Amino acid sequence: MSSIQPMTRIKELKNPDSFKFEQVSCYICGESDCTEFLIGEEDLTGKDGEFLYVKCTNCELVYQNPRLTIDGIKPFYDSEYIAHRKKKNWGVLTPLYEWAMNKHDRDKERLVKKYCHVGPETKLIDVGCAVGTFLLHMNKKTGCKISGVDFKEGLEYPDFDKIDFHEGLFYAQNIPENSMDIITMWHFFEHDYDPNASIDMAKRILKEDGKLIIEVPRLDSFTFKLFGKKWPGVQAPQHTALYSKKAFLHMMEKHGLKVESYMPYGAFPPYFYIFTGTYFKWIGKGLNLNKIIFPYFLGQFLLSPILLFKNKLNLSMQTVVCTKQ
Ligand SMILES: [Zn+2]
Repeated sequence: MSSIQPMTRIKELKNPDSFKFEQVSCYICGESDCTEFLIGEEDLTGKDGEFLYVKCTNCELVYQNPRLTIDGIKPFYDSEYIAHRKKKNWGVLTPLYEWAMNKHDRDKERLVKKYCHVGPETKLIDVGCAVGTFLLHMNKKTGCKISGVDFKEGLEYPDFDKIDFHEGLFYAQNIPENSMDIITMWHFFEHDYDPNASIDMAKRILKEDGKLIIEVPRLDSFTFKLFGKKWPGVQAPQHTALYSKKAFLHMMEKHGLKVESYMPYGAFPPYFYIFTGTYFKWIGKGLNLNKIIFPYFLGQFLLSPILLFKNKLNLSMQTVVCTKQ
């Protein structure tokens, strides 16, 4: 494969004139030489745009280049995107939906407790905490002290005021050094416009014996092989980088973090990728959640024998548990 000029290549793709792109270099090694990897589209809500993902010639990280400017990405995090995550009334299926959402928080709890002691003295911060259901769940279960960082979503959410909430960019926050026992980043890191600054910040605020837990989609997974550019983990243009196991570990090592544990899975349900990937690839862009909620749970039921082995099959996710060494 031959190297490309990202700013030239993007002009050949179909994008509204209003999109402002900026060139970036590799987040891991800083090199700018790259080859084309795939063209991603916004499949979830079906918005316009074709986004270029390249592979670094030097270290093989796959990242979006050029990427939309930070102001340009904002409309992609608008109410529609949030609604996909936060809708509450699903009619007769509401209890099932709520059970599924709560299960996600219970799976995060299980994963954290496997590697960390969590008690009333524990200080936990969740980066990209959204409306904070995971933090509130952990506080309820263990009594731990909870902090969160995110951009405000302007939604009223019960008990949100129990969280020590920091609004805005993680690395711009004023959080005391060596103060946190556990830092979690559940599907935050692959959205990050400055992942290096976020890791540096995490290292600063983490206690000497603290743990940093990061979950991201895994590029070299079964579902990527199945869906290719329609893989839900591409999630263009929100995802700034697509990490293989090698690149993900490389990133941690670059910052001098010790990877205590690597898991070829996460708390995020791989079934969501199987379902939405199937939809994007064979049905189309733009999920109408009102129409798919029943087939969604039916499919989950039918696949349940396979999903029992989800943690062994490298379906879609990966998680690291790191210390400062
Ligand atoms: Zn590189």
